[in-house]
Amino acid sequence: MRTRWVIGNWKMNGTLATNALLLEALVAGVHDAVSETTKARARIGICVPSIFMNQAQRILGPSDITYGAQDVSEHKSGAYTGQTSAAMLVEFGVKLVLVGHSERRALNAETNADVARKATAALAAGVTPVVCVGETLIERDSGAAKSVVAAQIAACAELVQSAGAALIIAYEPVWAIGTGKTATPEEAQEMHCFIRDELTGISRSAVNASILYGGSVKASNAAELFAQLDIDGGLIGGASLVPSDLLAIYGAA
Ligand code: PEP
Repeated sequence: MRTRWVIGNWKMNGTLATNALLLEALVAGVHDAVSETTKARARIGICVPSIFMNQAQRILGPSDITYGAQDVSEHKSGAYTGQTSAAMLVEFGVKLVLVGHSERRALNAETNADVARKATAALAAGVTPVVCVGETLIERDSGAAKSVVAAQIAACAELVQSAGAALIIAYEPVWAIGTGKTATPEEAQEMHCFIRDELTGISRSAVNASILYGGSVKASNAAELFAQLDIDGGLIGGASLVPSDLLAIYGAA
């Protein structure tokens, strides 16, 4: 059985005051307006800037909403100024962490090997890594989309073997992130099916990994995307900053 997820990524947004409003609206919305059927079928999570983890723990801790971080160090401790270890995240009750988001791959030069080490460190500490993969527009236009994604997954082969069905992959075509352009449901399904085949080729136990779609998901297009056979929910950027939008997307899952 695959776990369906809707996970928000706030990126570097928020203040203590705006977060409190947003998180409390989400808690109330999930409690009052989300049906028990949705809650039984899909989970909801939010990845906040690490500096706000204490606030997320205080507000979301007692709720049905899982919270997580947007990055993690591959190291356990030591001279790594500015980094946050998985064990530190665990101290704040963190259950999820994004690794290899395309913004970090592009702006922080994270390689496939870096991403695999970070994901492995997270899993070892009991935090589920959400491994982000996806091709750029140039790669898609040159016909390299699948080989790029295959290489991103192959680098995580050991992780795929150890995490199995607990693994979460987010397929996020870079050209669709924050651009308003979404992959068509058919394009997304084709890549998700390919990803599931790649995962299963590494380990049969990964057949039930959750594969989320990310890239300009909105309340208006979520249902059609999530109806695809191999799409198990979404990783949501911009729309996760608006509680009613995120709740509508959650409802679609
Ligand atoms: C993201 O940042 O992971 C993302 C999918 O952003 P957006 O939904 O804004 O495209």
